[in-house]
Amino acid sequence: MTQKRGPFIGGNWKMNTTRDGAAALAAAVADGLHSDGPQVAIYPPFVWLHATRPPKDSRLLLGAQDCSPEKNGAHTGDVSLEMLEECGVSTVLVGHSERRHGLKEPEGRIAAKLRAVLGAGMIGVLCIGETLDEREAGETDQVNEKQLRSALEGTKIVRKDHLVVAYEPVWAIGTGKTASAGDAQAAHEKIRSVLDDLLGSDAATAIRIIYGGSMKPGNAEELMSQPDIDGGLIGGASLKAEDFLAIVDAASA
Ligand code: PEP
Repeated sequence: MTQKRGPFIGGNWKMNTTRDGAAALAAAVADGLHSDGPQVAIYPPFVWLHATRPPKDSRLLLGAQDCSPEKNGAHTGDVSLEMLEECGVSTVLVGHSERRHGLKEPEGRIAAKLRAVLGAGMIGVLCIGETLDEREAGETDQVNEKQLRSALEGTKIVRKDHLVVAYEPVWAIGTGKTASAGDAQAAHEKIRSVLDDLLGSDAATAIRIIYGGSMKPGNAEELMSQPDIDGGLIGGASLKAEDFLAIVDAASA
């Protein structure tokens, strides 16, 4: 049976916040959520996961910005999914451009992380998107397709609601520049057609594709009103509870 898509909003805090600031921000977001509405997750730095763990009765999800694809062992500095689970994490970002491009994380490792996250029964948010040079060369759709295929080929999707694809044009991340709603919709529609080809039409209809790249209260509603934009991954604007909650409300509109 084809599942209906409910929106997903994630707040990627990156390497920001103090321990007290993180705890206060998480509490303000948890308090500000209504009893229904989109699925909402925060992704604080690893070291603040304990300080930001939402109360048991909250529907706020706790997420991690990265993980190791390995179970345990000699992997200095890495954090396993088992460790994250113990901290209350139920969703993980995979392949964020600041790791994919900034740290040259290889596509094979991104695919292995995604398989591990889904295998652990968590929600994996797979980030894809083109650089400015690739956009100017007219390669947006090819880049998205290549990154999607490499991350998903051979991956069994047991729960369609556990895979979220975040289309994040690299030139729009943290720059204040946003893709127009029309351009973002065109990219999302194409991504959905690749999902159809890879996973079949039921999966393509059910899997959330969210937009990331300078989303803020002022542009969120227009972006998320597009038929194939099922929410957002928010960096800068997720560091202020008021702005983040305004985007959450825009997804419910
Ligand atoms: C991100 O980090 O995924 C992101 C979209 O950041 P920003 O909203 O700041 O552009």
